[in-house]
Amino acid sequence: MKILVINAGSSSLKYQLIDMDTKQVMAKGLCERIGIEGSMLNHTVNGKKIQLPTEMKNHAQAIQAVIAALLDKEHGVISSMNEISAVGHRVVHGGEKFSGSVIITEAVKKALEECIDLAPLHNPPNLTGISACEEAMPGVPQVAVFDTAFHQTMPPASFLYAIPFEYYEKCKIRRYGFHGTSHKYVAGRAASLLGKNIEDLKIITCHLGNGSSITAIDGGKSVDTSMGFTPLAGLLMGTRCGDIDPAIVTFLMEKEHLSPEEMDAILNKKSGVYGLSGVSSDFRDVEAAANGGNKVAKVALDMFAYQVKKTIGSYAAAMGGVDAIVFTAGIGENNNVLRASVAEGLEFLGVQIDAEKNNVRGQEIDISTPDAKVRMMVIPTNEELAIALETKALVG
Ligand code: ADP
Repeated sequence: MKILVINAGSSSLKYQLIDMDTKQVMAKGLCERIGIEGSMLNHTVNGKKIQLPTEMKNHAQAIQAVIAALLDKEHGVISSMNEISAVGHRVVHGGEKFSGSVIITEAVKKALEECIDLAPLHNPPNLTGISACEEAMPGVPQVAVFDTAFHQTMPPASFLYAIPFEYYEKCKIRRYGFHGTSHKYVAGRAASLLGKNIEDLKIITCHLGNGSSITAIDGGKSVDTSMGFTPLAGLLMGTRCGDIDPAIVTFLMEKEHLSPEEMDAILNKKSGVYGLSGVSSDFRDVEAAANGGNKVAKVALDMFAYQVKKTIGSYAAAMGGVDAIVFTAGIGENNNVLRASVAEGLEFLGVQIDAEKNNVRGQEIDISTPDAKVRMMVIPTNEELAIALETKALVG
């Protein structure tokens, strides 16, 4: 069975064709500058990247270009579209309507449209990608896999905000959480690697990348997560501020005469380790600056490790214990210094890491000492494979 995974953004579209028998990526790529002059299809087969300048005025043309590349005599990987059994779409926001992946029907599309308010930047291109695939591949099942769905098991005590209840009822303001596909996937891998049923485990998954979130997973179910109504909440990130006193927003808007758009840009694009250090949103650059004597860059990194540690502690308390702590995504998978500083001080919980084992990048490994009570693990995330697995489970 071959599954095409689509992640459609406003002017880009990422794709992977995955052979589900071997779990291998047959081809992958990125359509850039859709609807903008100079659009480009970057297609990778067997590690070889081919750049194909291709006119893509809209997502429908981008999908046509992807299909042409997959069928191409030279750099294609299939001989007929019939070889594609299903398409799995990453959809950012499913609101409260979706607590799992679904086969896309007209009713599902209508429900997705109703969620546009909640993710005005992301859901519209996701919907456009779905329509483009439906048009290009009639009869092929399309599946929606949501960033938010995994967190729908959170209890009200985790997901409600203490603002007037009418705003939850009227505007659906609540914690939704994101990165759900990744948290679910790495928690499942952790249980497999430990040889245990996920139902019997308390796991804390730390997805630490440009955007970062931490989730408490009790018996396989998300019971709390650090991102909130939007992905701005929780930890400080590359350019996002994470949790701050909400009164800062109105205070700054008044004092600096900022419009809502300007304030939004400050919190989403000019804050985090970038805003503090003034150097970069990439942790490698911030680390280099800290090593070069930039004191605020050093504090930004210390703040990140501190917030990760504090969140782990609070989630262990929320679940009444923790069996495994998982690190994933760009920083979680690659940054052993960060992992070590998070582990330091968590010995009271039963965390004990082996410095040599921790000296790894991007591979599945338990980095704990043999007798540590809490297993600390590195598990590379694979959101595309996770989407393909969800799709396969639904289409059979
Ligand atoms: P995104 O949320 O955009 O998918 P990633 O998961 O790729 O982000 O994470 C990006 C972050 O991961 C950057 O801050 C970067 O410094 C860090 N990172 C990525 N690769 C490495 C690496 N090989 N070594 C150290 N840090 C890395």
